[in-house]
Amino acid sequence: MPNSGDASVTRAGMARQRAGLLVGSDNGEVPTYRDEAVVLRTHKLGEADRIITMLSREHGKIRAVAKGVRRTTSKFGARLEPFTHVDLQIATGRTLDIVTQAVTLHAYSEPLGQDYQRYTIGQVMIETAERLVSEEGQPSLRQYQLLLGGLQALTTGTSDGPRPPGMVMDAYLLRAVAVAGYAPNLADCSRCGESGPHEDFSPVLGGLVCRNCRPPGSARVELRTVGYLVALMGGDWAATREVDEATARQASGLVAAFVNWQLERGLRSMRYLERPRPGL
Ligand SMILES: [Zn+2]
Repeated sequence: MPNSGDASVTRAGMARQRAGLLVGSDNGEVPTYRDEAVVLRTHKLGEADRIITMLSREHGKIRAVAKGVRRTTSKFGARLEPFTHVDLQIATGRTLDIVTQAVTLHAYSEPLGQDYQRYTIGQVMIETAERLVSEEGQPSLRQYQLLLGGLQALTTGTSDGPRPPGMVMDAYLLRAVAVAGYAPNLADCSRCGESGPHEDFSPVLGGLVCRNCRPPGSARVELRTVGYLVALMGGDWAATREVDEATARQASGLVAAFVNWQLERGLRSMRYLERPRPGL
């Protein structure tokens, strides 16, 4: 019976079962589906089970029960820990879906678990993804790809080599809010549309503002910081090679202020990070 099998089943084996109906153990035919996902968080259910919240490639945010996962003999082992990228088979249940198979694609939880700063930043990324993809079952391919790319960059480096974890986080946050429809204005004035370059930034108004429009409390921003933010938002890692510490720090403060404003209530885990105070 396919869905009672050993979890070390090969990807080829799972592919053969793809898109089919599996015979369930109790109540006849149980519809199943297969997807890839990043585990966002888990919580306990009953004595031995967990509910796993994931961001998947095809089904957006999903929640499913992993039965017996808290037993030492669980067939899932550590495959369903937060940050893990897994290939899943899920049976559609009447109330909650059930994970029937899980194969690890990338165990990001291992390197992150050994580095407190990276772990905390990974947590910010995961919480942001969960906030931005609020509805379950709505496909959110770009958010999924950004989160996966972000975890990859955080653990094994970017397409242009390793970067500091804070830089990876800032790029992820900018791109994730942009995909969600809240990109900051990094060229024209956020209020009147006058073309730049501008040297004031207002998180409340949505990005750069001209001298006439800048509200009290806007942050002064260096032009090279604007250029660096544009590179981060465009995923242009090569252009971030030579960035100096002061520029990265100023940008980081602006990103935090902007993203927190956009997410209104702020990200819980952001408080645990040491951030510069841009005086916004
Ligand atoms: Zn203006």
